[in-house]
Amino acid sequence: MNADLINQLQLVLPESRILTGDQLKDRYSHIWYMEDSLNALCVTLPESTEQVSSILKICHKNNAKVVVHGGLTNLVGGTETNADEVVISLERMNQIEEIDSDSRSITVQSGVILETIHEAVADLGLLFPLNFGARGSAQIGGIISSNAGGLRVLKYGMTRKLVLGLEAVMADGAIINSMKKIIKDNSGYDLKQLFIGSEGTLGIVTRAVLKLEEAPSSRNVAYLAVNDYKSVVKLLKFFDQGLAGKLSGFELIWRNSYEQMTSTSDAVRPPLPYDYEYYILIEALGSQSEQDQAEFQSLLETTVEKEMILDAVMAHSPSDVEWFFRIREDVNNLTDHMKHDQHFDISLPVALIGGYIKDAYKKLKLIKGVEQIYAFGHVADGNIHFIIGKENTGDSLRLEINDIIYSGLKAIGGSVSAEHGIGLHKKAYLNISRTPEEIQLMKTLKTAMDPNGILNPGRIFDV
Ligand SMILES: Cc1cc2nc3c(=O)[nH]c(=O)nc-3n(C[C@H](O)[C@H](O)[C@H](O)COP(=O)(O)OP(=O)(O)OC[C@H]3O[C@@H](n4cnc5c(N)ncnc54)[C@H](O)[C@@H]3O)c2cc1C
Repeated sequence: MNADLINQLQLVLPESRILTGDQLKDRYSHIWYMEDSLNALCVTLPESTEQVSSILKICHKNNAKVVVHGGLTNLVGGTETNADEVVISLERMNQIEEIDSDSRSITVQSGVILETIHEAVADLGLLFPLNFGARGSAQIGGIISSNAGGLRVLKYGMTRKLVLGLEAVMADGAIINSMKKIIKDNSGYDLKQLFIGSEGTLGIVTRAVLKLEEAPSSRNVAYLAVNDYKSVVKLLKFFDQGLAGKLSGFELIWRNSYEQMTSTSDAVRPPLPYDYEYYILIEALGSQSEQDQAEFQSLLETTVEKEMILDAVMAHSPSDVEWFFRIREDVNNLTDHMKHDQHFDISLPVALIGGYIKDAYKKLKLIKGVEQIYAFGHVADGNIHFIIGKENTGDSLRLEINDIIYSGLKAIGGSVSAEHGIGLHKKAYLNISRTPEEIQLMKTLKTAMDPNGILNPGRIFDV
């Protein structure tokens, strides 16, 4: 059946767009793991929606399992494969089709890389606000399928809010075209939302219309320091109110994470001394340079006068801004010295974060095999990242760590994934975030849209 399947695929794709055998040596399942080549039946490289549709029709008919590859930056095993699986990689569908300044939208194929979109719209005074560390590799199709968040969700929302129109191919090859530029459309179900955040289990995203914003002309950034978590929450409310819609980032870094993030090179030298428990990176975006800077500075001064903070430093140039953000974004500074790393992206009510993380640190420190614990994250969104360094990759240590991070979330209405999704790695914990009825409805949708269960099998749940 394998040879027959390849023969059928060769009828719809040029030979050079189907990679098999030794041609998979330079292919991988994740950008971080390039020691092991990809294990798959073949990699297909479609260049059009019609080709994606033809591939899926063949796989559907033959009950062949398909795994979708975007930029391979997901952190949940979403792009891992087995020897009998067909990979559909969207990397050759990388055309920007249109930038419409008046409608403030960009139309792209799904293999376009996030940073390419940033660069393409910047010259027109526009902004695609989604932004995170993997922007140089992550593709818009992968981003849509994982409903990515990042550093400016507070002001602009997650991917879900930034997709105006979308085209997707269903498991049986049917093309669903909803490529509109309009913001409001209440004519029945908003079907595009089904494909956003469903991790490639319901369809393959092939094109999208994305919402652009007018680019801000002012950007004010500072690091603040405090010693207790209650002050963090007070500061968030204070700046959100004071900046009236301009607050775009409010990132929290725990002391030991800050120490490590700022100790590896001069490029990430510490802007504030290592004297405090919490470091906050705050960003405001606006359109009146002088006025915005004066307002930001005055709010900072008020926090000093009212003793709301213990220390602060403001960025005074674009290179300062870059320096401040590099500290937060370059997670390699945390992982490079780890033997093995385990990543978390939990969600929980903002007010409860301080206590929850303190408790987790205390418990994790007692586990043999846990070598480093770093917490930081998008605190304004109630989303904290943990990176745990550990001495081995054994199941028992992994599960013990998972248990500590996840077990308290259900009781406080949290989630095991704020951003990265469930993939293969977090399936066992889906019931912490979702009720049995919600999971059953997800399975019903999956079965209706992909009756043979060929698309990204085993991701999120087993049907
Ligand atoms: C350094 C670093 C920082 C990160 N920071 C953030 C962050 O701040 N916020 C955040 O949300 N995430 C973050 N991530 C996670 C990751 O970058 C995002 O999940 C991103 O959206 C994945 O895009 P990708 O193109 O790499 O997708 P991939 O990893 O290739 O795929 C992700 C999932 O989507 C599926 N898929 C891919 N393309 C398609 C398609 N066209 N149609 C259907 N399914 C598809 C895949 O099968 C897989 O299940 C970070 C990752 C790294 C490495």
